[in-house]
Amino acid sequence: MPPLDDPRAIPRFRRALLRWYGANARDLPWRRTGDPYPILVSEVLLQQTRVEQALGYYTRFLAAFPNFAALAQAPEEDVLRIWAGAGYYRRARNLHRLAQAVAAEGLPHSYAELLGLPGVGSYTAAAVASIAFGEPVALVDGNVRRVLSRLWAEPEPSPRGLRERAEALLFPKDPGRWNQALMELGSLVCTPKRPNCPACPVARFCAGQEAPERYPAPRKRSQRTVSAAALVLRGPQGYLLERREGTALGGLWGFPLVEGEGALPALLARYGLPSAQPLGTVTHAFTHKRLTVRVYTAPWNGSGEDPRRRPLSALDRKILALVPGEG
Ligand code: SF4
Repeated sequence: MPPLDDPRAIPRFRRALLRWYGANARDLPWRRTGDPYPILVSEVLLQQTRVEQALGYYTRFLAAFPNFAALAQAPEEDVLRIWAGAGYYRRARNLHRLAQAVAAEGLPHSYAELLGLPGVGSYTAAAVASIAFGEPVALVDGNVRRVLSRLWAEPEPSPRGLRERAEALLFPKDPGRWNQALMELGSLVCTPKRPNCPACPVARFCAGQEAPERYPAPRKRSQRTVSAAALVLRGPQGYLLERREGTALGGLWGFPLVEGEGALPALLARYGLPSAQPLGTVTHAFTHKRLTVRVYTAPWNGSGEDPRRRPLSALDRKILALVPGEG
């Protein structure tokens, strides 16, 4: 029987984890505040980004938009420009809409009401409700899912089962600290590869430590590979850039790009060009597809613009880096 199936083990488990967290928690800027705005920004950033990477974006974002009002008033293009490089731009667009909703109606404090805000799912709502407002609600992110899956040696835990386990473990007197402690354990000790079980503060409660990497079983993800062509046209003022559409990169700017077979002829026809010279190839992974982009350049008579004044996606930064002198 997994040790944590015995309810008497839970208080000891909590004490062991919180003691470890007190001694080992990283000093992160969003942990030094009770202000829900920076907590929310950090949680949105951390959904798809590692802490080390998120730190730089967090600092930049807070400097540009220090509170809900400043973010609500900013043009979307400025928000995307500051977010550029962090990826998953829908998060930035939703955060912007959320700030506008908060500016109009105020920030709700409960988990249930936070869920009604643009782009706020159960993870973000639980994080803000517990960390900023002390509501006893458990959160399950990727780290928590991995830790719980290992503690109970469950290769394929159901979302509902995970939620029930997380709620049973939750330390109701300080739910924000508790949620952060469990996530921190997953980030620092119970890592996806090579978890450090000998140093784990809760090893004696863990049913999966004999073979932790079996838990949870890898999720099957189908990622298509798609080919594309992009065209770099440079004039005296800079480059020809266009505003992208669609959910992944919509609102950002980038080089003319066409996916699929016949992409280059389509681009040449669009700009009335007879030919183009290859500049290189870049690859970029999105959630559901991997894009291989052959990049071309050709003489061009337009004026162009400075790409640093536009929100460029990480993909377009890679394309720009192929241009001699821009890398
Ligand atoms: S003992 Fe190992 S597998 Fe179990 S929670 Fe600790 S680090 Fe994770």
